[in-house]
Amino acid sequence: MKQIILKKGRDGAVRRRSPWIFSGAVHREDQDLEDGDLVQVVAANGEVLGVGHYQAGGIRVRVLAFGEEELPDDFFQNRLAAALDLRRQLGLLDDPLTNAFRLVHAAGDGLPGLIIDRYASVVVVQCHSIGMHREREQIAAAIRSLCGEAVETIYDKSGAVLPERYALGVEDGVLWGSDVSEVVILENGRRFHVDVAGGQKTGFFLDQRENRWLLGSYAKDKRVLNTFCYTGGFSVYALLGAAAQVQSVDLSASAISLTEENVDRNGDFTDRHQAHAADVMEWLKAHAEDDPYDIVVVDPPAFAKNKHKRHQAVQAYKRLNARAMRSVKPGGLLFTFSCSRVVDRELFYNTIVAAGLEAGRNCRVLHHLSQGPDHPVNLFHADGSYLKGLVLRVE
Ligand code: SAH
Repeated sequence: MKQIILKKGRDGAVRRRSPWIFSGAVHREDQDLEDGDLVQVVAANGEVLGVGHYQAGGIRVRVLAFGEEELPDDFFQNRLAAALDLRRQLGLLDDPLTNAFRLVHAAGDGLPGLIIDRYASVVVVQCHSIGMHREREQIAAAIRSLCGEAVETIYDKSGAVLPERYALGVEDGVLWGSDVSEVVILENGRRFHVDVAGGQKTGFFLDQRENRWLLGSYAKDKRVLNTFCYTGGFSVYALLGAAAQVQSVDLSASAISLTEENVDRNGDFTDRHQAHAADVMEWLKAHAEDDPYDIVVVDPPAFAKNKHKRHQAVQAYKRLNARAMRSVKPGGLLFTFSCSRVVDRELFYNTIVAAGLEAGRNCRVLHHLSQGPDHPVNLFHADGSYLKGLVLRVE
């Protein structure tokens, strides 16, 4: 097998089972290595430390198996079986009220570079590395053999997340089974239309399931504002939690129609729900600060995609959250989130502290939130812990 040799003294991270090998740790690599090749990772003393997918760029290798010299033939089958076993333990495989969950969460399931989401009988595979994408047929075969007839369609949605040089030749589409035009899922008994082909990510933000439920439990008789609503997940839970009124705001007109459609799927809420296509900052300034809400939800897209954007992103989170705090009635709640990987938990917390000072409001932390357990975090790879949330009581 082809090899990359690490610099002397740069093998600590792999020995600590971190799955990413950065280019700076590489001493030498075989000349004919191509994107997506399986490669042995070798320490300066010649010891083979593991096997992974090679890819030119900052993250040079994603390690799939530590302490192995090659991947066993049933590698994908085994890792997927283990991933399924966890979801079985979480009660997700036979829950009559929930049929959508993350089946594989990259390094959290020992499969760095691979995301698999399950939406009822549709499985969406998203490969973030070229190596995983080259294995997609094998991955689809493993899904079929493990899930059997419960899965009718396997859809590959990797084009937007793969490096451009490779993605030019990649088309998203059905790997196996039938078309995916109409997917409706159940989540805690709530119904949602998932736009697999056209939607953001794989179509739905499964990571907020538990947090949506929590919001629902606080919503009775409350006026709720759900900003960055996308598919209207938080809005639907608030309405079924007997909120007096819910306003949903998103910049995208298609997100607003998806929200309206999803609200309609869950009951007749015409008197209690309104959705608005608008910029959140503008909306808060124009409509919320003078007429504050009992509960405000702030779940923006990742403001920082890399370290260079971190400072700017923190400033944006601060301004947004200060404005959101001013839009909460004294004694009301703010549910605030960040999914930026480069803004860690501590930085997020400190940013919210700064927002509280800027808004001049005393706040207390009621809950620290994160992604659900079907998005497990590899203990040796904290990067997988990307979703951070706080529930504040704002005085
Ligand atoms: N809360 C959602 C996920 C939010 S995704 C859920 O639980 O499913 C982020 C959303 O923010 C996207 O739908 C995007 O259209 C929207 N968005 C991005 N910038 C915005 C802005 N400035 N104002 C309003 N919405 C914005």
